[in-house]
Amino acid sequence: MPRNIDNFHRKIDYLRISITDWCNLRCIYCRPQGKWKKLPHEEILSYEEIIEISKVATNLGITKIRITGGEPLLRRNIIYLCKELSQLKGLKSLTVTTNGVLLKHFASELYRAGVHRLNVSLDTLDPDKYRRITGKNMFHKVWDGIEEALMVGFYPVKINVVAIRGINDDEIGELARLTFRYPLHVRFIELMPFLNHGSDSVDRFISTDEILSRLREVSDIKPVSSSNVNGPATHFRFRGALGKVGLISPISHHFCPTCNRLRLTADGKLRACLFSDAEIDIKTPLRSGASHKELEKVFHQAILNKPEKHSLKAMSGTDIPPHRPMVAIGG
Ligand code: SAM
Repeated sequence: MPRNIDNFHRKIDYLRISITDWCNLRCIYCRPQGKWKKLPHEEILSYEEIIEISKVATNLGITKIRITGGEPLLRRNIIYLCKELSQLKGLKSLTVTTNGVLLKHFASELYRAGVHRLNVSLDTLDPDKYRRITGKNMFHKVWDGIEEALMVGFYPVKINVVAIRGINDDEIGELARLTFRYPLHVRFIELMPFLNHGSDSVDRFISTDEILSRLREVSDIKPVSSSNVNGPATHFRFRGALGKVGLISPISHHFCPTCNRLRLTADGKLRACLFSDAEIDIKTPLRSGASHKELEKVFHQAILNKPEKHSLKAMSGTDIPPHRPMVAIGG
């Protein structure tokens, strides 16, 4: 039996690596306001440690790695890490998720380092609203970064939009219409209840079914098949558009039966489910000199720990969100 198959016959071939828990934005749904404390430097995995764990991972059948955070472009020397990871035997895809604030500066170096796909988070096209959502006046920097990424040759560039009722739901059509002008994949993601906002999360939640009905009002839209069968998004295209629209429904139609992911947190914990706080520490054995074989066992155990499905049934408002906020897990 291959060692990347979990107890529910899912093939785990995708690792998301958070390289920092720090971010230069303060998105209202992602990072606790006020008292968020950055991890001490010594708690964070070094690049050599990340590369070592990634070698173990690719040996066990991981073929896709996404670098995330916090904001990954804030970590010094990220280009070095990308170059090293992109050369790992068995790795087919290396991607980065970023808020795009520093993307204009990094796009071409990232591309040359072997990263050819990017996800950029952008919830609005209105600079004032951007500031209200993220706490920073950075809309134009992000947009310049997206244009630079397209120019450098990234494909696809995916735009992640967290849909929030009363905040950006009036822009669903306009954001989706970007796909007429640019070869972007604009993906709407259901708001996940990470920050214990209680009934506010419920009121703000918009299901992807509702988003789809709003998209149908924009123009003629048809489902398109996806090349990545394991991806959580369902894809659509407006007639005549250059890009696609994706819908990601972690809450209303959860994709647990096809979930192929593991996460490595910046402080060296393997987390098998975004919504479960069960984690396995791989940093301690690594720092105590565990052999490659021993680390493989730890990794394999994390795969076997993957729950069948997450416990957040729906946005009931009484579900207990995960202990770590998204900024510290790695989205
Ligand atoms: N800083 C990078 C960025 O902004 O893309 C990477 C980290 S961020 C945690 C990764 C993704 O998680 C972003 O697309 C963000 O919108 C998403 N995210 C964070 N909190 C979320 C929530 N409560 N519900 C849905 N998506 C969320």
